[in-house]
Amino acid sequence: MKHLYAPGTIGWSFEVFPPKSAEAVEAMYGTVGELARHRPVFISVTYGAGGSTRDQSLEIARQIRQRHGLAVTAHFTCVGSTRDEVRDWLGQAERLGVENIMALRGDPPQGETRFVPVAGGFRFASELVAFIRQEFPRFGIGVAGYPEVHQEAVSPESDLENLKRKVELGGDVVYTQLFYDNDDFLRFRDRCQRIGIGAPIVPGLLPVLSLKQIQRITSLCKAKLPERLVGRLERHADDPAGQMAVGIDHCAEQCQGLLAAGVPGIHFYVLNRADAVRQILARLD
Ligand SMILES: Cc1cc2nc3c(=O)[nH]c(=O)nc-3n(C[C@H](O)[C@H](O)[C@H](O)COP(=O)(O)OP(=O)(O)OC[C@H]3O[C@@H](n4cnc5c(N)ncnc54)[C@H](O)[C@@H]3O)c2cc1C
Repeated sequence: MKHLYAPGTIGWSFEVFPPKSAEAVEAMYGTVGELARHRPVFISVTYGAGGSTRDQSLEIARQIRQRHGLAVTAHFTCVGSTRDEVRDWLGQAERLGVENIMALRGDPPQGETRFVPVAGGFRFASELVAFIRQEFPRFGIGVAGYPEVHQEAVSPESDLENLKRKVELGGDVVYTQLFYDNDDFLRFRDRCQRIGIGAPIVPGLLPVLSLKQIQRITSLCKAKLPERLVGRLERHADDPAGQMAVGIDHCAEQCQGLLAAGVPGIHFYVLNRADAVRQILARLD
């Protein structure tokens, strides 16, 4: 997977989620078609909370490869799967031609604060990474990193040690949680380098589409919303198009800063919409 980020190139990638209705699934393929023009290094397909999209994620990954000829990264979490079930799922992904796996632990069920693995399942993403590297060596493996520290981490240091472990056990590339202040990312990248994490670190960005939506998302993943950005969004309180324009401006500025700081690529959480990301990439061109 590291080869996707060769020096002198920028690896764009776009993350979609499996929608509920057949209509929305078709619309999502349309979005991917539009995004394909930007020649992404892959499209990634998320794995629903609690394993709710186990089969659908793979079917979508298959269709994206077939319809658009793009490489895919299938997300997978340890939630609700025994080791044998993990092996079956990965075997199926391999047979479908999936190139990479985003190897994650997953979140505890809503309302709970502690992750409890199923009997015979994995406790941490690092265990899943080691398993994939050993049993399915052909997959590229992406792992998650947290510029603002994972919310359950005992300390920032232990969170970073965990990331280092994931890379040493076979993680090829680190993809970060969303963030809205580049300084958080740059400090995180420095700290990773200082403790010897050598894998490429790709920032993950979610363009703000509305204040309400982003307040909900950031409260779930505990990412900060800079006051300046909130202030700009509040000035367009009753104007959805105005809020989206602010979100696009902010994300384009983030991209410019990150590219100037030498990131190897940018992973966009596109939420199955092409419009915002298309406008952002047009500004960067
Ligand atoms: C790029 C990206 C994509 C994502 N895609 C999805 C998705 O498709 N579906 C989904 O449900 N969720 C997804 N998530 C969310 C992710 O599942 C959650 O953030 C989850 O809470 C942690 O997953 P992880 O893989 O980072 O876990 P881990 O790396 O296992 O870390 C979880 C926590 O355990 C701690 N920890 C790890 N190892 C140890 C140890 N040995 N001892 C003590 N503490 C330890 C870590 O510090 C951290 O606090 C994604 C996140 C990112 C950043």
